[in-house]
Amino acid sequence: SDTLLEIDRLSVDYETARGDLKALRDISFDVRKGEIVGIVGESGCGKSTLISSILRLTAPNTRFRQGEVRFKGDDLLQLPERRMRDLRGADISIVFQDPMQTHNPVLSIGQQMLDIQHRSKASKAEKRARAAQMLGAVGIPDPEARLDQFPHEFSGGMRQRIAIAMALMSEPDLLIADEPTTALDATLEVQIIERLQELQQEFDCAILFISHHLGVIAELCDRVVVMYAGAVAESGEVREIFHDPKHPYTRRLIDCDPGHIKERARVLPTIPGEVPDLANLPGGCIFRDRCDQAMPRCAAEVPPLTQLKDGHHAACWLNHKEAAE
Ligand code: SF4
Ligand code: MG
Repeated sequence: SDTLLEIDRLSVDYETARGDLKALRDISFDVRKGEIVGIVGESGCGKSTLISSILRLTAPNTRFRQGEVRFKGDDLLQLPERRMRDLRGADISIVFQDPMQTHNPVLSIGQQMLDIQHRSKASKAEKRARAAQMLGAVGIPDPEARLDQFPHEFSGGMRQRIAIAMALMSEPDLLIADEPTTALDATLEVQIIERLQELQQEFDCAILFISHHLGVIAELCDRVVVMYAGAVAESGEVREIFHDPKHPYTRRLIDCDPGHIKERARVLPTIPGEVPDLANLPGGCIFRDRCDQAMPRCAAEVPPLTQLKDGHHAACWLNHKEAAE
């Protein structure tokens, strides 16, 4: 099959002094080989928990309540830690919002890129050449000479490119990009997005791109998963979701962030009201306190994530004909 990653009915809690915090509820979506999938949502929507669950780098108070995270058919939640370690950084790589999380400040970029190749049997000169080639691929000018420089000698945008180069060195099947452009200005953001598109083609890896900007997702991704308060509100093809959003939350996100990323103001989406307390979830639809189309049924029953057409899913009673009755 061409499915690479399958998140299947994943529910994850954090055990806290205040009770169980329901960080993810019944999350399902998949990423096909070579595809770019965006995950969008406000802070606190579960994006970080989702990433750490996929990589199995969760905090000790995490409880996997239900579901599977299948990668090339294996349930990652069941793999021995040793195999997980082999997967991380080899088959699945990650780029963080802050590239300094990747870079060691006291080692030259070249040394760090040699270290990444520690499993390779190539000579040092070959590994260095490969490092320079990767820097070139992400658009670092004069890469050979810059290998001997240290992270602080590069600009923020360059450091993020280098982090991407490092993440791609192992030729992963899946690159997880966790808000990689959020800390950059709009011009640099566009450059990184365009570069990621090229690299996706060149390396034929799938990308799971996490962002709170729908504009960036629209530019880069094939499909999008809209998350709200730990659950999927809507998912489907980017074109379809922008043209015909089926969840009021998605509509609000689009209204907040309508522009092409080159023109848009760099503001976070602001939607009146607050994300519900995940330790004390209300019954019914979790979006209902912020929804201007809420009906009596929305308070009584949780709307299920339902397929509307090919691959387009939404969790909202407005899409159920019987809801109006
Ligand atoms: Fe709004 Fe009801 Fe749809 Fe929830 S189910 S998003 S409250 S209309
Ligand atoms: Mg986060």
